Amino acid sequence: MRSIIFSALFAMVGLPMASLAADEVVVYSARKEHLIKPLFEAFEKETGIEVKYITDKAGPLLQRLKAEGNRSPADMLMTVDAGNLWHAAETGVLAPTQSGILDKAVPSHLKDPQNRWFGITVRARTIVYNKDKVQPQELSTYEDLAEEKWKGRLCLRTSKKVYNQSLVAMMISRHGEQKAASIVSGWVNNLALPPLSNDTKTMEAVSSGQCDVAIVNTYYYGRIEKKDPQINLALFWPNQQSSGVHVNVSGAGITKYAKNKKAAQQLLEWLVSDKAQSMLAGLNMEYPVNPGVSIPQQVKNWGEFEADDINLSEAGRLQANAVKLMDKSGYR
Ligand code: FE
Repeated sequence: MRSIIFSALFAMVGLPMASLAADEVVVYSARKEHLIKPLFEAFEKETGIEVKYITDKAGPLLQRLKAEGNRSPADMLMTVDAGNLWHAAETGVLAPTQSGILDKAVPSHLKDPQNRWFGITVRARTIVYNKDKVQPQELSTYEDLAEEKWKGRLCLRTSKKVYNQSLVAMMISRHGEQKAASIVSGWVNNLALPPLSNDTKTMEAVSSGQCDVAIVNTYYYGRIEKKDPQINLALFWPNQQSSGVHVNVSGAGITKYAKNKKAAQQLLEWLVSDKAQSMLAGLNMEYPVNPGVSIPQQVKNWGEFEADDINLSEAGRLQANAVKLMDKSGYR
């Protein structure tokens, strides 16, 4: 296996198909190399299929796929967030994959209804609180964080991040625009600080007492907890009597112009297998998408929860509405 650099990829473009090795698959990945490399190595060892990949941010990878069109060497796109996966599918760079293995392993709300992308790992976007300043009984729902009692106590990551766009899109799907707008405005009114640039900084602000509560992805909490097991932060699972916790996925789909469709499907099916799921969930402290696979111990320790089961494609469908709504509400 090797990580191919851009110039090498450009050199591959336009080559006749016969010059490509028979058993290989080319992946464009917005997931970091340290996560995918051990995984692809294990796949290669098991199947003899060589995995070539490049990593970049989701936006540039999608632009690249679009620009390359039918000359693209990519067989698979891997990225995070249903908003990004939905966007890739809508742009027309992904093709549907019919697979009994994928149908069985991936719950229907965590994949594209048209099978152009499939969730591979699950992360929850949930409430984190300062244990010295908040009793868990004071917490209940995402909606409740808009109430007066949280004035000057809430921290949020910037609305520019797709994770928050997906969270708000799912609230629009659940409540309608009007109610979602009043919740987001309530959050903005309750902010202790201007929105922060990432989830880790957001949790640091909660830990240092600049604010009492925030909304973050579980694996970022996992990283902070791993570094400092005594940290004064804890996760809370909101909306257990109503919609459930907002979950999202990292996922993948096979490209429309894949030259190695069969090998790509084999890789995609392997990614939801017990072995790959355990590896991937363990490496980034996420939940396996395949409900038959056991959850990593550190993640399990955070407790069980009911998750929202609205189809995640809603996060993409309503993304533009969410961006507009957050802007109007003054959420920067
Ligand atoms: Fe992330």
